[in-house]
Amino acid sequence: MKHDARKTSREGENRCLQSESLIYNIIVNSVMTVRALWSRPGVDRRSMVLESKEVYEEDLSVRLLPTHLKHRFQRRLSSYSGASEVDERLRGWAWSVRPLKPPYDISVPVSAITQGYCGNMRNVFIRHVMGVEPGTTGREYDDYVFNYLVTEAYCHAKKEIYCRGVMSGTELKSIMDSYYNSVVEALRSLGENVVDLKERLGWMRMVWGMITDQIETAVDTVLAGQPHIGTDELVNAALPIIISNRFVGERLGLANSFSSYIWMPERTVINLRMGRRLRFHRLATVASAFFAECIYEQPIDVGCILYANLGGTDGLELEYDIFSIDDSARREMIDLRDQALQIVHLRKDPGIADFCPPECPYYHVCHESTKNG
Ligand code: SF4
Repeated sequence: MKHDARKTSREGENRCLQSESLIYNIIVNSVMTVRALWSRPGVDRRSMVLESKEVYEEDLSVRLLPTHLKHRFQRRLSSYSGASEVDERLRGWAWSVRPLKPPYDISVPVSAITQGYCGNMRNVFIRHVMGVEPGTTGREYDDYVFNYLVTEAYCHAKKEIYCRGVMSGTELKSIMDSYYNSVVEALRSLGENVVDLKERLGWMRMVWGMITDQIETAVDTVLAGQPHIGTDELVNAALPIIISNRFVGERLGLANSFSSYIWMPERTVINLRMGRRLRFHRLATVASAFFAECIYEQPIDVGCILYANLGGTDGLELEYDIFSIDDSARREMIDLRDQALQIVHLRKDPGIADFCPPECPYYHVCHESTKNG
């Protein structure tokens, strides 16, 4: 398919200027800064940090970022200057030795560990010893829908470029828009017995529009710099995320069923959430880093959680939580995993927690049995 490179260039720039809330811009920045930090072995890391900060400041996409996000990236960069290497034994590929090697030959889902409602991890006992299914909360279903839409959008976009060849972002977006109804239908058939999709249709449309806008911008931005690019190069330059839906994590004593988005060359793993931040979301991202390191044997050092909330001028407000996946985050996840595995292995009830939030999916189980007992 033909495209006008100059027109595409202008369109790409304009869209860039309009879209400070793009996840793509966030990742482009992490791409550039982390690449500067890591791609040249043998160079002093502190000087690399300073240099990458300068590059970072000069980059157009960085200047388009909201100030608070710039500051966050700068803080993240500064944390690298401490030159604290991650302990090799805490990388996902070290699954065959302690501390990463699981203490028992069993596994539990990451969600059971990172659910975070229960200080005693009684949720693990109820689900994996008593065998009570938790059901899906509205918030979990929101996360599922959000991830489903993003995954479908990225997969369809890649498929279209491979099947039809190089095209402008505008052309790709119009094709993507024609997919929306079938994506919703597929989701409806998956979730018909869980929660009514009707009340979510408004924000689902907004998410689809946001993601397809980002894809359009990404494609046009790449074409602006490389108008004669080939099909495979375009996919890899504009949409270089590995979408991982189901890691097999038994080697780590973990099972997984949530989506992660891996920016492998930049050592970044991304999770998407609807709603407000919760502390335990970071733990799930650390688990994603373990999985990615275990499978690809490549290091992951940065976690990024994108939160989407209803509100804001476009109907969706995006917030980013960007953090280092350092030793302490890794140890916390490993300790919690060991604790969960021990509960399942010993089949020992840890008892009701001191504080039980009403949104805990097992609230009725713990408090009904207390009332009756
Ligand atoms: S109701 Fe309380 S004790 Fe039971 S799983 Fe939830 S937080 Fe834990």
